[in-house]
Parts: sequence; C-alpha cells; structure tokens
Amino acid sequence: MSSRTELFHRKFRRNNPYVTQGRNLAAIVMRILAVLPTLTMWTVTAAKADLPLTGQAVQGGLLIGTAPMTSHVTLDGEQLETDGAGRFLIGFHRDDSQAQLLQIQSDDGSTQAHIITPEARDWDIQRIDGLAQKYVTPPAKTLARITSDRDAVQKARQPTLRSTQLFETGFRWPVSGPVTGVYGSQRILNGTPRQPHYGIDIAAPKGTNVIVSAPGIVTMAMDLYYTGWTVIIDHGLGLSSTYSHLDGVSVQAGDTVLKDAVIGVVGSTGRSTGAHLDWRVNLGTKRLDPKIVAQVLNADELQKAE
Ligand SMILES: [Zn+2]
Repeated sequence: MSSRTELFHRKFRRNNPYVTQGRNLAAIVMRILAVLPTLTMWTVTAAKADLPLTGQAVQGGLLIGTAPMTSHVTLDGEQLETDGAGRFLIGFHRDDSQAQLLQIQSDDGSTQAHIITPEARDWDIQRIDGLAQKYVTPPAKTLARITSDRDAVQKARQPTLRSTQLFETGFRWPVSGPVTGVYGSQRILNGTPRQPHYGIDIAAPKGTNVIVSAPGIVTMAMDLYYTGWTVIIDHGLGLSSTYSHLDGVSVQAGDTVLKDAVIGVVGSTGRSTGAHLDWRVNLGTKRLDPKIVAQVLNADELQKAE
C-alpha cells in the first residue's frame, strides 16, 4: 500500500459509519433483520408470475427465481444455492447460447421444468492494426504478478455467504458519469482478439466517492497490476461485484458493508489512461452485464414486472 493510500485508508475508516470492521456474525444477522420487510414484498411479486422467474434471459443477463422453500433446484443437473425464501439466481455469460434445463423438485414429489435459452446480443468489436508489439504483449517480468493477481481475484469471487443474500434493497450504479466502455465489447489488436471487456467504464473525476452496489462482505481490497486498487464484494447466492482503478480504498477484506457504503474513491491506478471506475458483476465464474443486473435487482423494476 502506498503511504498516500494508507493515509487515506486510515483517515477514511475512522469516520465511516457504514463499514463494520471484521466479519461479525451479529452484524450480518442485523442486516438480514433490517431487510425483512422488502423480503416479503419480493416473495409476493414472484408468486404471482406464471413462471417462478423474473429478469432477463439474455447474454450477460440475470434471472431471479423463487422455489417452494424446501425444494431442490438444479440447472443442467447442477444444484443451485437458494436463500431462506427459496430464491435462486441464474446468470448468463457473454457467449452463452445453449438451452439450459431448470428443474424444481418439491417435497411433495412434483417437478417443474423450464428450458431457458439466453437471447443473443450484438457486441461492439473494434479492430486496431499496426500497434507496436509492446502494447499487445505485457512485459515478461510482470507475468508472475499477473498470474498471482488472477488467482487472488478468482478466490475473492468464490461465495462466502451461504443460503443468504444481501441485495434485497436493490443494486445501484456505484458512481454517476458518462459510460466510456460497455460490457461485451472487444478489441482485435494486430489481428489477435483480446479478452472481451466485462466491465462498465464510468468516467468520473479522481476522488469521487464509489458507493457499493448492494450490502455485502468485502472479499478483496488490493492493488493489482492491471486493475490497480480493486475491491470485490460478495452479496450472497454467488453474486459479487468488482470496482477497479480506485485511487484509494476505505475497506479491507472481511469487512461487512451496508447499503450505500463508500468503499473508496475513483482513480486511475493500474493500467488505466484516465480517471474512471471499471465496475463488474459476477455470478460465480459467469460474468454478467452490470447494467442488466442493476435493472433486474432493482426492487421498483421488479414490481413493474408483475
Ligand atoms: Zn474497464
């Protein structure tokens, strides 16, 4: 941690009423009790629908389902985690196109089956030729760092919250500003396709507060080669959000963050060309479009979908 960031970190943490230091079970239980009224509303909304699913079955999209409380839910034979109200999430990767079989087996022996096929989307593909090779291939001495960063990020996106979820109160955009990069876009540099861009880039002045999308547990607050200061939050049921290129962070791994907590400020750390926030959402290893997740998990949108 640079001394500047450390100073920021110390100063900020002391005055941040939204952040609980350490992983405190009592704090988590309090959060869950605080959101119980909205939980009831959600259950009613889902029960009215013909299919127990709301959301968007598109590439990068997200569905929320509700099953009878004690049922066994599988997607293509793999068990899905459910919360205390029987809710589960289904996410679609950028390139998912196959039909998937959702099965809900109730205690009384009845089974519901649904075939879900994500709708295809068009992606913004940009070809750039004639680039100097040093901009295409990272320097050899950074490869070990890049590999260990990737492992740490993968680990931080593994679910830590079991059978619970903390996005009852919605899922918000972490900063406001012009969108300068969208989910799914891809560059082809000197004929070699790069990994698609899985974040939404939002331009904002350096120092702008970054607000957590939903309550959760911090699983990473680290300075990485590509993404600079990076915070990852676990929201439960496999859903995590990632905030990159921060100038400073105000949380650390293990912290519990409440609704609207400030987790750091916008910067340009890591491989970045200007102050912006790169905002990502994962469901397990599936990379989702944050814009769609915010639409689907927004309580107002859910009510409209009735
Ligand atoms: Zn980005």
